[in-house]
Amino acid sequence: MVADVVVVGGGPGGMAAVLGAAEVGASVVLVDAGRGVGGQFHRQAEVGVERPGKGFAGVRERLLGHERVEWLGESSVWAVEGKRVWVQRGAADAVGRAVFAVDARAVVLATGAYDRVLPFPGWDLPGVYTAGAAQALAKGQRIGVGRRVVVAGTGPFLLPVAESLLEVGARIAGLFEANTLRTIGRGWASAPLVAASKLPEFLKYAGALARHRVPVRHGWAVVEAHGDDHVESVTVARIDSSWTPIPGTRRRISCDALCVSHGFIPNLELATAAGCELSDGVVRVDSNQQTTTPGVFAAGELTGIGGAALAAAEGRVAGVAAARHAGFESTAQEDLKKTRSVVGVLSRAYPVGDGAAGWVRGETVVCRCEEVRAIDLVGVEGEGRVFRLGSRMGLGMCQGRVCSGGAVKRVVAVPVRLGDLADDGGESCE
Ligand SMILES: Cc1cc2nc3c(=O)[nH]c(=O)nc-3n(C[C@H](O)[C@H](O)[C@H](O)COP(=O)(O)OP(=O)(O)OC[C@H]3O[C@@H](n4cnc5c(N)ncnc54)[C@H](O)[C@@H]3O)c2cc1C
Repeated sequence: MVADVVVVGGGPGGMAAVLGAAEVGASVVLVDAGRGVGGQFHRQAEVGVERPGKGFAGVRERLLGHERVEWLGESSVWAVEGKRVWVQRGAADAVGRAVFAVDARAVVLATGAYDRVLPFPGWDLPGVYTAGAAQALAKGQRIGVGRRVVVAGTGPFLLPVAESLLEVGARIAGLFEANTLRTIGRGWASAPLVAASKLPEFLKYAGALARHRVPVRHGWAVVEAHGDDHVESVTVARIDSSWTPIPGTRRRISCDALCVSHGFIPNLELATAAGCELSDGVVRVDSNQQTTTPGVFAAGELTGIGGAALAAAEGRVAGVAAARHAGFESTAQEDLKKTRSVVGVLSRAYPVGDGAAGWVRGETVVCRCEEVRAIDLVGVEGEGRVFRLGSRMGLGMCQGRVCSGGAVKRVVAVPVRLGDLADDGGESCE
């Protein structure tokens, strides 16, 4: 399959990139692992009635109906070689998925992010979910992960998660934001215009939480989850500015599910496989969203966690620039400097404290895939590969996505069956 531009990821960033490129004349293939376009922010119900947010239905219609756009849903890119992306298409985990290459003149990566969860005793118990997974089940399947749920961690994302859970009938036993109102207020106050633009959204969530009488605590964290074969309660504690629990503040709360998120980690696998340089843990781009690999552009959360509006603005710029790289003319020029200021605001308002390392005890599992406990790391020497081989951290199913902060370089980005590779229509990945 060939196209002028291939876009990986159909969230706000990728959708805007597709339209940006197609509208200046480029043919575009959009590849996304999901069943529908929209990514995380615009995730739609797969059962019952869809509720597309403001503006989304129109963008989706324009994109899917565009004569120069080909949409490949339920398709994962598992490798990038230059401007050739390798796709496997078919339902997740199905046997016999089609494996094929898409060759393009420019590539836009808009692969988004995933939840960061810091380890604490009991975080590996059934019933402990990432906040993103709980929201995906609530939004996509209309399923609540529990009847009495605790939501904890840090970031504005906890608010829509709590709202999604309330909408599917869950009761929220408490929302525990680790940062204090003072820290959050100071962070937002550093960019008053950005703060003002987010205010209506905050008020909407605050209203929903108040209507359902959800107890909300700032400067508190879940530091332990308890239960035999399922979470039955959590210990919360007031924490100081480094996130160290303050003695005498521990309290037990009963619940049947816990949703945690301590911010997001950008999905960097494809970008690092394409040779793009990183800076401060995100993909480095210039004012055209061009990465350090010529012809490979990036947009959205993988260039800095800044929310859907920024992702869409970056996507537009990346799409037009990718079309230009592919030989199409456009004089469009957009300055994203102001829009990008939200990235700094979020990291200032919702910092992660080093004291969280102290939540872990010797027997706490720190690598869930390989069941490595904190105590097992004592005496393991070396760095990088040597450390991984000595400890087995990062060698399991998640390949270090949880414990390494996402910066591990690997050639194969998502699991792919050898049988499907062998049946790739005669082409092979060099
Ligand atoms: C779990 C989760 C839930 C969120 N919910 C909210 C919310 O409710 N409200 C809010 O304001 N913000 C939310 N966010 C923040 C949100 O990510 C951004 O606001 C916005 O969606 C970012 O847009 P994006 O285009 O960068 O990425 P995304 O919207 O995340 O889109 C990335 C897309 O890339 C696809 N993808 C990734 N890797 C591959 C691959 N290898 N092959 C093919 N496709 C791939 C994914 O399927 C996804 O559709 C959420 C983030 C996460 C991680």
